[in-house]
Amino acid sequence: VVLPRMTKVILVTGGTGLVGSAIRQIVETQNEALPEEKWIFTNSKEADLNDVQATRDLFEKYKPTHVIHLAAMVGGLFHNMNNNLDFLRKNIHINDNILETSFQFNVKKVVSCLSTCIFPDKTSFPINETMIHNGPPHPSNFGYSYAKRLLDITNQAYHQKHGVIFTSVVPCNVFGPHDNFDLQNAHVVPALIHRFHIALEKGADKFVVLGSGKPLRQFIYSLDLAKLFVWVLRNYNDVEPIILSVDEKDEITIRQLAEMIAKSFNYQGILEFDTSAADGQIKKTASNVKLRKLLPNFKFTSLETAIADTVEWFKKNNKQARL
Ligand code: NDP
Repeated sequence: VVLPRMTKVILVTGGTGLVGSAIRQIVETQNEALPEEKWIFTNSKEADLNDVQATRDLFEKYKPTHVIHLAAMVGGLFHNMNNNLDFLRKNIHINDNILETSFQFNVKKVVSCLSTCIFPDKTSFPINETMIHNGPPHPSNFGYSYAKRLLDITNQAYHQKHGVIFTSVVPCNVFGPHDNFDLQNAHVVPALIHRFHIALEKGADKFVVLGSGKPLRQFIYSLDLAKLFVWVLRNYNDVEPIILSVDEKDEITIRQLAEMIAKSFNYQGILEFDTSAADGQIKKTASNVKLRKLLPNFKFTSLETAIADTVEWFKKNNKQARL
């Protein structure tokens, strides 16, 4: 038997989270990995990336040639509003440790992760990749936003000084299996799924959605994002970020999202909106024109299907899910 020669060792930081597990599913169970690729998925139990020595030890152990850098302190609106200092400092430290260690270990390419929620608060729409630094972010998550923006700045500085390809992608809101469903910290999709699950168990005939239901958002299924990540790693060689989002026409209101989740649960009760709770940005519509030019035929999973699959996953796995 002739074993394939591994030429690429791809280290995925944050490999057990929402996005990391989706990449793992794509490369391991859907046979997307190429013979010359060895994929490694790591998390904070293996190495705390806030710690520079632990980061170096991790790179010494695996000697990655490529890095998909997902590890971050991540949370929904309400978690961000109360913890801007932690979101800022932890993410700055993790990102600096990963990029500098990648440089020292001669990593050929790093793909890091920004987010559409770091875009300027006051802006024209749709937002594209050239507009990331054009004005302050929404005050609710300024810590997370500036740490993420610095990732792009750092990538540019490494390129200027050393010519390396450290790049980034900008996903819109992600959801799917293995999300964080903790009611205090979760993003809107997992928070609503968890709360509907509880409401159904209690037989509640009224469900209260926090906020007005009016904000508009684009949502990408984690398994679609995972396929795009793999494509970026193999084919996108520009330092400039690339937005990985569904089309602008697929933007929906939080009310529509809540109705869709209610339908997946077959919840028949009344939906109410607590307008005294914060809404966050009213919209943050991102343009995927750059992605569409490079990859015109990519098919996103329909939101109804992806939400229904995630609800099914949660029903089956809520005993082990992050709650
Ligand atoms: P999750 O919260 O699901 O997972 C975070 C991952 O990072 C976990 O594997 C966690 O490991 C790891 N991690 C966190 N802190 C550390 C640390 N100090 N050292 C080592 N590993 C650490 O995040 P997502 O999958 O949702 O997010 C992945 C990336 O995508 C992030 O960079 C995020 O900013 C970005 N993103 C996410 C969006 C979303 O809607 N979720 C939208 C746009 C961008 P452990 O479990 O062991 O702590």
